[in-house]
Amino acid sequence: MSETPQANSPYPPSYYAASRNIVRQPVTLAGQVEAEICVVGAGYSGLSAAISLAEHGFSVVVVEAAEVGWGASGRNGGQVVNGLNASLGTIQRRYGDATANFVGGLLQEGAGIIYDRIARYGIDCDLRRGNIYAAYTPKHMDELRAKQALWRTHGMDDHELLDQHQIRQHIGSDVYCGGMIDRSGGHMHPLNLALGEAAALESLGGRIFEHSPVTRVEQDATGATVHTASGRIKAKTALVCGNAYLGNVVPELTARVMPVSTQMMATEPLGEERARALLPTGMCVEDVRYILDYFRLSADHRLIFGGGVVYGGTDPADVEAKLRPNMDKVFPQLKDVRVDYAWSGNFALSFSRVPQLGRLGKNVYFAHGYSGHGITGSHLFGRILGEAVRGDMTRFDTFASLPWIPFPGGRMFRAQYSTLGSWWYALKDRLGM
Ligand SMILES: Cc1cc2nc3c(=O)[nH]c(=O)nc-3n(C[C@H](O)[C@H](O)[C@H](O)COP(=O)(O)OP(=O)(O)OC[C@H]3O[C@@H](n4cnc5c(N)ncnc54)[C@H](O)[C@@H]3O)c2cc1C
Repeated sequence: MSETPQANSPYPPSYYAASRNIVRQPVTLAGQVEAEICVVGAGYSGLSAAISLAEHGFSVVVVEAAEVGWGASGRNGGQVVNGLNASLGTIQRRYGDATANFVGGLLQEGAGIIYDRIARYGIDCDLRRGNIYAAYTPKHMDELRAKQALWRTHGMDDHELLDQHQIRQHIGSDVYCGGMIDRSGGHMHPLNLALGEAAALESLGGRIFEHSPVTRVEQDATGATVHTASGRIKAKTALVCGNAYLGNVVPELTARVMPVSTQMMATEPLGEERARALLPTGMCVEDVRYILDYFRLSADHRLIFGGGVVYGGTDPADVEAKLRPNMDKVFPQLKDVRVDYAWSGNFALSFSRVPQLGRLGKNVYFAHGYSGHGITGSHLFGRILGEAVRGDMTRFDTFASLPWIPFPGGRMFRAQYSTLGSWWYALKDRLGM
């Protein structure tokens, strides 16, 4: 069973929770509260929408089941990767040129929102610029070349292709045959970003209730009511941003996305010299396989390494045992290094890998399904939710009109079907097909 946030759920045992620089004094919802906007979920989607609206003078309340950034937003790889999980080429094939051109115009906007907010609100989250896509095979290099060419047609020219010799100057490993830098990407401490955004929202007058799982969202002609066990919020509009952790609270959304868990670990501090030998230019890395590894250095010189998926969102019994062989393959020089933290978290997968935005009735909106690449997407979609609430439906309607595709196998068997599919793609990766 996938994890559901409870009022008393602590942060997972992550490096991020242990090194967070803000410890909040959570307030639980009690009795009735009124606001123009009620946001369900204090991850990046909810906080981004809430900040966008609070910046325009709306009264906003966020209700979070556990604590700010408890979900994927506080436990992810921290890799600020531009674009959506589904490639522009796939979007073009599935939804046509007009949609691909529209998406092409906003590929870097999510990262821009993050960089602006960090600067504007003085958020301390160890931001560093630049990310690398690493290639194992000549076919991966062809894919990267095609991506660079396609992104150029949309005016983005921050990419630099790397051959085998050049990538060795960025990654202290012999496993890659090349790669590509995106200088407009980056990485940061994800929980400190979420906590900093929560503080930014509060500085704008927004309120956040934590330890308050929403049990029901209702609406009538005048607005929406969001219920918890000990209170309710009456608002004109509710924005549902529970993503992979929402469970069955809003039944219309349950089948649209599937929780998928992915695992992470952080080594002991390696010291500056040893850490620099692994990633001399300090950029974060993800490889371009279907089931990928992703890694970066923390500010205190640990290697933070992630990878692997479990469809359905269950956690493996021993995260370190699962991830360690992958890390040792890339960096055999770390075989003697201790792992200090290992944890797991869920992202929401949509069948098409394109995130979903929509409206249920007149007064309830939602955004979810970033499919594992959601740090930038959640910030962008939060902004677009804000635009819709303010009456500018242009960008919202374009995404909301994309048909969503149900998972084969329905809710019962979708995890098994997806596991089979991923074996096939992983095999193709191994064979270089
Ligand atoms: C381990 C891991 C590594 C990842 N690495 C990367 C990466 O490096 N780069 C990248 O781009 N993306 C990455 N992702 C994906 C990215 O983190 C997510 O797409 C993004 O954070 C989604 O933000 P969100 O706000 O939509 O969802 P979440 O951050 O999951 O927030 C949803 C919130 O809603 C709350 N909630 C749920 N139900 C209720 C309820 N009933 N009542 C009240 N609150 C509720 C939850 O407690 C949670 O806090 C990773 C994800 C994981 C799990």
